[in-house]
Amino acid sequence: MTKALIVVDVQNDFCEGGSLAVAGGAAVAARIGQLLAVPHRYAHVVATRDHHIDPGAHFSDSPDFVDSWPMHCVAGTPGAALHEPLSEADFEAIFDKGEYAAAYSGFEGASAGVGLGQWLTERGVDQVDIVGIATDYCVRATALDAVKAGLDVRVLLDLTAAVAPQRLGEVLDELADAGASLAGSGVA
Ligand SMILES: [Zn+2]
Repeated sequence: MTKALIVVDVQNDFCEGGSLAVAGGAAVAARIGQLLAVPHRYAHVVATRDHHIDPGAHFSDSPDFVDSWPMHCVAGTPGAALHEPLSEADFEAIFDKGEYAAAYSGFEGASAGVGLGQWLTERGVDQVDIVGIATDYCVRATALDAVKAGLDVRVLLDLTAAVAPQRLGEVLDELADAGASLAGSGVA
């Protein structure tokens, strides 16, 4: 088995103080930092980033927080940067998505022109752990696509944060039904 960690959208705008802050985002960043700071079992560690240039109706001045959102993660702005303690140096590759349209799944992202799915396949990855923000949007979409890609998928719930915690049960049921495992990270 070859295992990879996919860190989804742990960016400043999705953490406290950002334009689309998810409660608990900064704590998730800190805990992922702890996970990466000690020897771990991942052959590859990659990240995804929301990376908007002009994503059309994904941005709205009167967002519904389901399909439209306040402006966030505009490419090249501090809001689009990874949240400390994470930095680009922590990752073997970073997959940017959403330049000109909404993109929730990391599998819509590319790094140097290579999509996440192809990148993982080329390295023989067959197991992925998925963490990040938000559980009910980009983590969910990335996990569902990872299952569809034939990977053995775990979502490490204590390293995720949700936009709408009251709907989280529904999302977790959907992930489990799709075949993803829900697990803990073991980070103390
Ligand atoms: Zn977005």
